[in-house]
Amino acid sequence: MTSLLQTIENAYKGSWNCLVNQIIHPFSDGISSFYVLIFLSLAIWTIEICLPWRKNQSVLRKDFWLDAFYMFFNYYLFGLIIFAALSNTTSVLFSELMGSIGMPRRYIFDFFHYFPVWLQVIIFFMIRDFLQWCIHNLFHRIPFLWRFHKLHHSVREMGFAAHLRYHFMENVVYQLIGFVVLSYILHFKLEYGFYVYMIGTLIGHLNHANLGWDYGPLKYILNNPKMHIWHHVKDLPKDHRKGVNFGISLSCWDYLFKTNYIPSDGRDVELGFEGVENYPSNFFEQQIEPFKFN
Ligand SMILES: [Zn+2]
Ligand SMILES: [Zn+2]
Repeated sequence: MTSLLQTIENAYKGSWNCLVNQIIHPFSDGISSFYVLIFLSLAIWTIEICLPWRKNQSVLRKDFWLDAFYMFFNYYLFGLIIFAALSNTTSVLFSELMGSIGMPRRYIFDFFHYFPVWLQVIIFFMIRDFLQWCIHNLFHRIPFLWRFHKLHHSVREMGFAAHLRYHFMENVVYQLIGFVVLSYILHFKLEYGFYVYMIGTLIGHLNHANLGWDYGPLKYILNNPKMHIWHHVKDLPKDHRKGVNFGISLSCWDYLFKTNYIPSDGRDVELGFEGVENYPSNFFEQQIEPFKFN
């Protein structure tokens, strides 16, 4: 018990120190993801302002500041401090549990070890993205999970910062499944993950940006704003009711599994879901909403 408490305490201290270090020393260990997030956000916001797709959408669109808060909450307040600490603790407990049932404690298959680092990163990116595509499907198809994912679909006016408007439980589900598959089963060393996370953030910001871009022929590989807007559309035809365009960074999974849907130019489509008008509009109520059963 003492060692478990010590593990939790060390994990929280480690996460907190890491956050403080990232803010105070931007270049101490490569470049700090805190400043990369700020830089990417400002860069894409600038492009949105210069080349807006929906020209009548205000620069400070509806819920801009709420979404800006979500960016730092999900990446830092929750992601780094709470979740990183919890997941460090969970990985220790997980390895104890696996050991106690006769399974390997650290990993099952040293899959990534067979490839050079650059190829490891590409394979990691692709497996991770496919895994996320599968999980995103589940968030739409399982009613209990949809309760949490609804928050991301409550966006009424789309802009880059909407990318990280999601419930903290999404972090828990995505990261836990990612940890088990990529780290425990396939033994990916997370220190190589930084560039993947940053590329994922860039593509995710662009997917939600007020930009009429689809990257030409690359649209069959890369997710893009003209495709992702249809993921957020309020009214879908009956045969697509469970959702369309589930891609996170890559669009190829949707083309491969026939969940792609871009019937026309989506610039002015209505966003949300049935009843979105009555969905809570502030952070705290949005966090509690999925747990209300009545
Ligand atoms: Zn979705
Ligand atoms: Zn989205």
